[in-house]
Amino acid sequence: MTHRIQCTCGQVRGEIVQPRRAMRAVCYCRDCQTYAHLLRRADQVLDAAGGTDVIATPASNLAITAGREHLACVSLSPRGLLRWYAACCDTPVANTPRDWKLPYVGLVHTCLRQPDPLERSFPQVEIRIYTKSAHGAVPADTALPGKLHFLRMVMRLTGMRLTGAYKSTPLFSASGEPVAAPRVAGTEEIEAARRAATA
Ligand SMILES: [Zn+2]
Ligand SMILES: [Zn+2]
Repeated sequence: MTHRIQCTCGQVRGEIVQPRRAMRAVCYCRDCQTYAHLLRRADQVLDAAGGTDVIATPASNLAITAGREHLACVSLSPRGLLRWYAACCDTPVANTPRDWKLPYVGLVHTCLRQPDPLERSFPQVEIRIYTKSAHGAVPADTALPGKLHFLRMVMRLTGMRLTGAYKSTPLFSASGEPVAAPRVAGTEEIEAARRAATA
């Protein structure tokens, strides 16, 4: 059974083809917090400790079925992660490396709650990362199972890099260009978001 995804307003739609080939993680890093404030979606994106719930999966496991033209892409630095969002309603959708040969997507929970509820396909957080940047206490790390799952995913991604399977992704063209031109956010914009994130 696939897991259908959509942005808040419903114009961007897609699916995770095989939800079992994905891992649920919470990232507390400063950049994810800054990004949520940059889009002015911190209330919707971040949990009480500043964490972002993401589903990590190979890019080939993601399909965008509608509203591709609304996808936009911003980055916090010229070499930073590409942070994809639905510009129709400023809903974070996914984070990806700049290099499409690392065919990984971190889908942000904000597009994973409807029409299919997040908990149906992904009942448990498997790993929590960058917990040192969390605001306050976070639940204990899920230890071995999450870490094994993570290792398995790294091995799978390495395999995809070697076989050319990375070319199957809805976020990059056949020549490896992002399907929406990445915009590097301005220094002042980033500073303001950082301040908001640490407030
Ligand atoms: Zn939308
Ligand atoms: Zn992060």
